[in-house]
Amino acid sequence: MSEQMQVTRELFNDVMVPNYAPSNIIPVRGAGSRVWDQNDNELIDFAGGIAVNCLGHCHPALIKALTDQANKIWHLSNVMTNEPALRLAKKLVDATFADQVYFANSGAESNEAALKLARRWALDNHGSDKDQIIAFNQGFHGRTFFTVTVGGQAAYSDGFGPKPGGISHVDYNDLEAFAALISDKTCAVMIEPLQGEGGLVSPTNDFIKGVRELCDKHNALLIFDEVQTGVGRLGSLYAYMELGVTPDIMTTAKALGGGFPIAAMLTTKEIAKSLKIGTHGSTYGGNPLGCAVAEAAFDTVNTPEVLNGVIAKEAIFRAGFDAINAKYNVFSEVRGKGLLLGAVLNEQYQGRARDFMVAAAAEGLMALVAGANIVRFAPSLVIPDADIAEGMARFEKAVAKIVNA
Ligand SMILES: *Cc1c(COP(=O)(O)O)cnc(C)c1O
Repeated sequence: MSEQMQVTRELFNDVMVPNYAPSNIIPVRGAGSRVWDQNDNELIDFAGGIAVNCLGHCHPALIKALTDQANKIWHLSNVMTNEPALRLAKKLVDATFADQVYFANSGAESNEAALKLARRWALDNHGSDKDQIIAFNQGFHGRTFFTVTVGGQAAYSDGFGPKPGGISHVDYNDLEAFAALISDKTCAVMIEPLQGEGGLVSPTNDFIKGVRELCDKHNALLIFDEVQTGVGRLGSLYAYMELGVTPDIMTTAKALGGGFPIAAMLTTKEIAKSLKIGTHGSTYGGNPLGCAVAEAAFDTVNTPEVLNGVIAKEAIFRAGFDAINAKYNVFSEVRGKGLLLGAVLNEQYQGRARDFMVAAAAEGLMALVAGANIVRFAPSLVIPDADIAEGMARFEKAVAKIVNA
């Protein structure tokens, strides 16, 4: 290999815009649920690249799909279609409520497409008065200006000038407030079937069913943002499948490519009609490389072994957190589902989730946070049980350090 420039974490502060505060550790390679940094220190990965690396690092099926396709064709643009995109779309359609697919490159872009489609659909079918969008406080839908405004954290959308209009928010799981807000002017309701970034909040059965019923009553489209919950994360292929509620539009990203950036918006043929030729598009969306990798990821995850394995591994994780908590009394509860779990810090440790994440990294464990009070975990769906045990032992050491500090 030709000589490469040596880099250190310090260089980040010089050459990268300051919107992130990354760890001091720079990982250079991974295998399964283990990662090695520049100094060859090994880490166990309970973070999964924020719920993306559903098959861990360098899974053989993904490497094969990527390299096979890399030797064939990478990019065409949507002036021509391609075989991997059509195969992946067919598999997504066959496995879900949807009839048709639009491909994008990120979760935000797939949500942007969903919101634009909903507005067009309403205009086509009900006139220009039906343009209101309802979403939920603490929700997260991405960082484009439309999606971040639909997201329920004003801190993320403030300070960029005039916002897209016609968007309002109510509390998640507050059906009464939602019922008071929705009307015949509502064109779409965007919701996560389990709030991820907002703190691993599951919907109550009455709430999610009530939201569906009220959308039907007012002819509003129900958009499920399954960017974080989809592709097996919660133990079913998509979260809607276990809720007994079917959306009109669904978005999926993160785990879809197992680490390759790809996203999709799925909907019915009837609704899709409003995305007529030229109404929306993307240069890279549905590129052969991304679709080939996603097809392999999808085939691997969408099996009873992997999906049932998620439920079994959830139990191991929960038992581990309970054991740590019995010893150190740091969590008030463990929230979430499948392999999207949040250990909520109790009164004594309020605001210190980042300290736990940093302490874990120092012990050789990659974890995440969700806000200031929740340590979040989103590991590979196929993480070996031995790696869970080793990671949990490292997490216990990190917790002990904080408690005994
Ligand atoms: C991560 C996330 C997004 C944004 O995805 P990007 O790929 O970062 O654009 C949108 N919605 C939800 C629910 C997410 O978790």
